Amino acid sequence: MATGKNPSLIEHVSSLKGVGDKSSALFEKCGIKTVQDLLLYFPRDYDICKEIKNVSELLPGEISAVRVTPVGNIAVKKVRNLSILTFKAGDATGELQITYFNMPFMRNNIKPGNYYVFRGPVQRKDRGFVIEQPKMYKTEDYIEIMGSMQPKYPLVKGLSNQLIIKVMKQAIPSTPYLEEMLPTYIKNKMGLMNYSEAVRKIHFPLDMDAFTEARKRIAFNEILQFILKLRFLKREEDISVNDYIYETSDYSDALIDKLPYKLTGKQMMIWDEIKQDLMGDHVMNRLIQGDVGSGKTILAFLALLFTAENGYQGAIMAPTEVLARQHYEAFSDMAETYGLPLTPVLLVGSLTAKEKRISQEKIENGEFNCIVGTNALIQEKVNYNKLSLVITDEQHRFGVKQRETLSEKGHNTHILAMSATPIPRTLAIILYGDLHISVLDEMPSGRIPIKNCVVGTEYRATAYKFIADQVGKGHQAYIICPMIEEGESDGLENVMDYTEKLKGILPSNILIGTLHGKMKPAEKEKIMEEFAAGNIDVLVSTTVIEVGINVPNATVMMIENSERFGLAQLHQLRGRVGRGNAQSYCIFINTSGREEAKERLEIMNHSNDGFKIAEEDLKQRGPGDLFGIRQSGEMSFHVADIYQDAALIREAASLADSLLSEDPDLVMEENAPLKEWLSSNSFDFTAL
Ligand code: ADP
Ligand code: MG
Repeated sequence: MATGKNPSLIEHVSSLKGVGDKSSALFEKCGIKTVQDLLLYFPRDYDICKEIKNVSELLPGEISAVRVTPVGNIAVKKVRNLSILTFKAGDATGELQITYFNMPFMRNNIKPGNYYVFRGPVQRKDRGFVIEQPKMYKTEDYIEIMGSMQPKYPLVKGLSNQLIIKVMKQAIPSTPYLEEMLPTYIKNKMGLMNYSEAVRKIHFPLDMDAFTEARKRIAFNEILQFILKLRFLKREEDISVNDYIYETSDYSDALIDKLPYKLTGKQMMIWDEIKQDLMGDHVMNRLIQGDVGSGKTILAFLALLFTAENGYQGAIMAPTEVLARQHYEAFSDMAETYGLPLTPVLLVGSLTAKEKRISQEKIENGEFNCIVGTNALIQEKVNYNKLSLVITDEQHRFGVKQRETLSEKGHNTHILAMSATPIPRTLAIILYGDLHISVLDEMPSGRIPIKNCVVGTEYRATAYKFIADQVGKGHQAYIICPMIEEGESDGLENVMDYTEKLKGILPSNILIGTLHGKMKPAEKEKIMEEFAAGNIDVLVSTTVIEVGINVPNATVMMIENSERFGLAQLHQLRGRVGRGNAQSYCIFINTSGREEAKERLEIMNHSNDGFKIAEEDLKQRGPGDLFGIRQSGEMSFHVADIYQDAALIREAASLADSLLSEDPDLVMEENAPLKEWLSSNSFDFTAL
């Protein structure tokens, strides 16, 4: 925490009314200790109380407010411990059912003949609609709150949205003390509000316009900081001289002819670029951007082999152990099969201390010339021997910083980053500003295209039968849910309950596994290993599965609440299947009744091309998508979204360039707050 902060910001949240020991601990789980932390805990969405609807206007899947009066009896049934209160209610256009659980007292609140507004998620039931547990309002009360935006915060079990709102309201008066990091001239030029105002308004925007302005300011902060840091990095790298001598490429060139497949034209082109870089005057700083399954790994392998045959060491860092192991095994196989001068070693966190020590020794004395691992590679204890090339696989999962740290293990090493983030080239140039970019946009021939379908929840039964059938044929399946456990968000599927439900539905000989981001790394790895080994047939998972697993035997990807994900992310998820010889399938379950949601998902239905999808996504997203890509790891700024904020990113980039050409080291008085902010660590680069 920087010194000189206003005391009210550094006070602990427990100083606020309503925060006891128990909720203090829950806040801490969300990373909130101080009042400032709380203020920077932004909503993930808003609840907007929309216009009142008629019964005939209701759509399933929407949260709606409907003004109706009870029709007939209000019945209360007891089923085991549950009391169920139901009644029919209607207006001139039709009827629906209202249900409350364990709230028998509601019967006394609802007077026959009176009209009330009921607001909640509309579900289809038999031939009509039902709303369960709606909030009930007198008409005049509802009209009062209509149009307002109530924040919905990311939750953990036990912490309610209401409590966060209550506590946030007490913290809001401290916003004026938040430090402003942008010089006035930049704010004016970009038409941005003050930071403190933005923070206040992002929690409680009066309307959509206020939200949009507040969000823009906060997104701009993230983007500008990111771009400036990249610019500084690039400046350092552009002058790095290539001290390594790469002369022979006998083995690497010869290998290309021996592979069981022919490299595509684009793969050949990029291999050439890599060779030119490695033999050039300056060290390589290159990004290979290629769609899922486009064949990036073989390029990494060729670069590592080229490095080894010239007497140097190369390292490749993957975001997960499973992926690192996969590479290690594939590389060892190839080295042996083709008699290559490559000696791979695996370095991951789960090795025993002894195994690690032995590996480290042999890395240090140069016995191993190809080091494959996770971020264990950048730990202090590892000393390399003639390390000349550093590769990061799935770069979008790492930070710029991690790539740098690995590179610093050598002396100005060559850097090759690989990413499957399908972002348009113009954006990639800005966001990977420190790298030269090779686009691998040609798929190996002979792939069987994945069959897609976008369907409603009524299709589930069919989907489960289909999955059981595929498992019967020896294949495996993934089912993705957006949430981990109940209570995080209403109405969305969560892995825990889903797994339980599925166990009751699928035949008992089908083995079901569960995977999510709150599991310990070792546990996660274990589940993924089990799935890769075929000991789990159906894996119910959150999006943690997105990267890192190549199980060609898996042929079905089923995504629940798929309307909640960004298209680029859906594409990544889908990329987990269709990797083998068998026909693969992707089932997108759409739980939203909204026409836009359906249209958006139809893009997935009709295209398997990541770049096209990303561009369409960009076109289709409107201000309706409040916080853009939800919980995605790709370029995950907290608020900014590379797709939705493409225009802002371009503006920020051009501003950064003119700023740095005028004041390259930010020494001018007016840029002082900016400089201080950049050197402080408020932005989490590791998330990138
Ligand atoms: P990604 O780009 O997603 O990392 P991989 O490198 O894992 O993709 O490649 C996916 C699969 O395609 C691998 O099984 C790989 O052996 C295979 N492959 C790579 N290049 C070609 C090619 N030119 N022709 C056929 N198959 C290829
Ligand atoms: Mg890959």
